[in-house]
Amino acid sequence: MLSKKMEKALNAQINAEFWSAYLYLSMSAYFEAEGKSGFANWFKVQFKEEQAHAEIFMNFVYDRGGRVMLQPIAAVDTQWENPLHVFKETLKHEQKVTKMINELYAIAEEEKDYATRSMLTWFIDEQVEEEKTAQEYIDHLALIGDNGFGMYTIDKELATRTYTTPAPLANSAE
Ligand code: MG
Repeated sequence: MLSKKMEKALNAQINAEFWSAYLYLSMSAYFEAEGKSGFANWFKVQFKEEQAHAEIFMNFVYDRGGRVMLQPIAAVDTQWENPLHVFKETLKHEQKVTKMINELYAIAEEEKDYATRSMLTWFIDEQVEEEKTAQEYIDHLALIGDNGFGMYTIDKELATRTYTTPAPLANSAE
């Protein structure tokens, strides 16, 4: 059974994951408008991953006999300066999410809730990847600058990303 404090914190995280999904979908829409379909694809995949994260948390709350209560999703930005700006904002956002996951872990420790701690381990590892990837694209885009061919090449590369269901959700499929 989840404590009320843990249940509330997990519900807040579910909302944050859906907000992340919404943010990345907005970034995808921005790139569609800019004619950068590879970037748009990459962020569309990112959107699906964040939705999956929310579902993983939801399933966990169900499994522990808790109650999921979906809250309104706050507005997101719709305009950015350029691709580099988008990835800088992505990194900033992921660093914020890392902090939130760490805080959830701290609550789980405080509550001696070992099941929640165990579930969060996957997210802690996932955040290392998220931050690393955003930083890599920041580095690439900084290098490319205004070079048209560089931008064309990276757009082609980002077009190849495909969605795969994250392991905790794939494993939980009935
Ligand atoms: Mg996430």
